[in-house]
Amino acid sequence: MINIFKNSFKKGIVTKPIVFSDTEIETLGKELKTLVYNKFKRSFHIREVDTGSCGACESEIIAATNPIYDIQRFGIDFVASPRHADALLVTGPVSKNMELALKRTFEAMPKPSFVITLGDCALNGGQFSDSYYTLGGVKNVLPVAFHIPGCPPKPIDIIRYLILFLKK
Ligand code: SF4
Repeated sequence: MINIFKNSFKKGIVTKPIVFSDTEIETLGKELKTLVYNKFKRSFHIREVDTGSCGACESEIIAATNPIYDIQRFGIDFVASPRHADALLVTGPVSKNMELALKRTFEAMPKPSFVITLGDCALNGGQFSDSYYTLGGVKNVLPVAFHIPGCPPKPIDIIRYLILFLKK
């Protein structure tokens, strides 16, 4: 315990202040909310599946739901069950041991359903493309309707790309 305190004092503050624009979040959020309502007449329900990511893509998705972005107020709802989801949001390169789980999750969704990939790994394996234990991206397992690029994409970019997806 004492070593943890010593290290903390030695390192000092390692986090950076968050630089963000309230106006941008509000403007984009308003547009997202209108598009969600026009398409679903309710919230847009998303089930997220990590198929072997490094964890940073998930961190950004979680950050999109924090009090700064609060993406829920724009009609985006992350749900625990695929049976309640309109779309499947997939991160990671699809490790071989996640292939079956990913397929089963998709099969459990009410139709029509969409697959959205998030992060470069989910597109084509990204950082893990040389690994013997991945399948090189979600498109090799399921039909993908839309991709959110980045390594990882920031919460504001997740909002931007969801707007583009809903405008398709
Ligand atoms: S795209 Fe980048 S941040 Fe996302 S899982 Fe892959 S390596 Fe991690």
